[in-house]
Amino acid sequence: MRYFKNCTVAIACVAVLVYLSIGIHYASYSPHRSNAYLWGVYHVHSTMSDGLQSPEEIAQQARASGIRLVLLTDHGSPNQASSSFHEIIDGVTIVGGSEANLPDGRLTFFGAQKIPQFRLSSFPPAAIDDAQEWGAFPVLTGYFASAHTLRGEAIAAAAFAFLTSYAQRVLSTPVRSRTRGRSRR
Ligand SMILES: [Zn+2]
Repeated sequence: MRYFKNCTVAIACVAVLVYLSIGIHYASYSPHRSNAYLWGVYHVHSTMSDGLQSPEEIAQQARASGIRLVLLTDHGSPNQASSSFHEIIDGVTIVGGSEANLPDGRLTFFGAQKIPQFRLSSFPPAAIDDAQEWGAFPVLTGYFASAHTLRGEAIAAAAFAFLTSYAQRVLSTPVRSRTRGRSRR
């Protein structure tokens, strides 16, 4: 009984240490800065839908964090105000866009050249065509899978996405650590 208790305490201590070390690792992370990169952020909601800050406030925060590009995705099918928003504020380029609910998930699109005048189609391929017709860049996001639509292809696609992202990470690590080592010297 005592042995069991000691083991439990030891496992709990190791878990806390691992948790803390991961936290410290993330907290001390600072991205590699270089003029060769443009730091941007995708999927931001502003006060044009349910976001808490106006584009001006978002630009100020982005600037303070070293971010130079913000892609807005305000709720709407499309969100007229956000989709026609295109401004450079304080040196931060804000590209407006929308996030639309489709029957099976969500579609975001940004950078429309024409102000969308009609409601987005609810059929995903047609909705992507609409976004492209408006000159926007479409991204299928938060695609929901419910029990009756979860098919073999979806599981295969998820497995493929996981494997490619894993392979990308494993293969690029030596390159990344080499470039980091070089820039520090
Ligand atoms: Zn969103």
